Amino acid sequence: MEMSHRSSNYAAIQETAINDLRELLSIPSNYKILLMQGGGTGQFAAVCFNLLGRTGVADYVVTGSWSAKAAKEAEQYGKVNLVVPKVAKYTAVPTQDTWKLDPNASYIYYCDNETVDGVEFDFVPDITNGVPIVCDMSSNFLSRPFDVTKFGLIFAGAQKNIGPAGVTVVIVRDDLIGHHMKQTPSILNFSQMDKNASLLNTPPTFCIYLMGLVFKWIKRNGGVVGMAKTAATKSKLIYDVIEESNGFYSCPVEKRVRSRMNVPFRIGSSAGVDALEKEFLAKAESQGMIQLKGHRSVGGIRASLYNAITVGETEQLAKLLREFAQSHKA
Ligand code: PLP
Repeated sequence: MEMSHRSSNYAAIQETAINDLRELLSIPSNYKILLMQGGGTGQFAAVCFNLLGRTGVADYVVTGSWSAKAAKEAEQYGKVNLVVPKVAKYTAVPTQDTWKLDPNASYIYYCDNETVDGVEFDFVPDITNGVPIVCDMSSNFLSRPFDVTKFGLIFAGAQKNIGPAGVTVVIVRDDLIGHHMKQTPSILNFSQMDKNASLLNTPPTFCIYLMGLVFKWIKRNGGVVGMAKTAATKSKLIYDVIEESNGFYSCPVEKRVRSRMNVPFRIGSSAGVDALEKEFLAKAESQGMIQLKGHRSVGGIRASLYNAITVGETEQLAKLLREFAQSHKA
């Protein structure tokens, strides 16, 4: 933690982490990997400062609360075209044939996994007119393989799948660097970050060190293909219990786009029975399963099954869910 970020010892740590990430996702050499600060929220603004100036308008596919926040941030810097109709509750990803895209957009933005709502894309948009895709993968990064070349930019805060909060990974195609607005803060400027090898100022060195260890762990455990297999197994364990419960548990999200990372559900009825949900949370906590309460904006329960959660731990939750349903059914 005390190492100078200008030392050769630290340079080796950062370089190894970046090289391992490049290998894990087969990131081509024309894509830069930047390690930035400011989290996902910082990138909501950074994306605008660096890319929105090109035409002044951007497409936002809002499928949950995080993409909604990103679109709201972008409204400060340019024109936002909402590609899909506004909805009261986020439970689906409208298919691409229904999207109203602006051919003049600087980029098309979406969030691959909506952490709060449990909505995960089951496709990468097929964009053929050259408009780059910008994707927030904060909560499902490195949980499945994807073709980097289909994207202009991908960003991910570390704190779900790849390490502690404090570092944000940005993978950006090199031709998209250098189009920033004049007033872009240096700390959010991709060009300056790139020129300075992500060492414009003191980076969160310890977070980057830990993130590097997580990359090694992913490599030892089958890479992103291995992570995808485990994620499918874990999420199926929980969704199966929900489906088998005859409505005792209910997940509002359309089956096609149910998240493998965040499983939101209600207990007792589709709107949730408060007393049952409280009882369940207390029971889970007494067994060491903490923080299963849903996000305050949606309520209910949310089981987050990030890469570090084991199949065994997920089985423990599935078992509790079955027992709880059994003991509360007539
Ligand atoms: N995007 C997604 C998908 C998230 O889940 C989060 C946080 O949970 C954010 C963005 C915001 O990240 P941060 O809190 O690092 O700003």
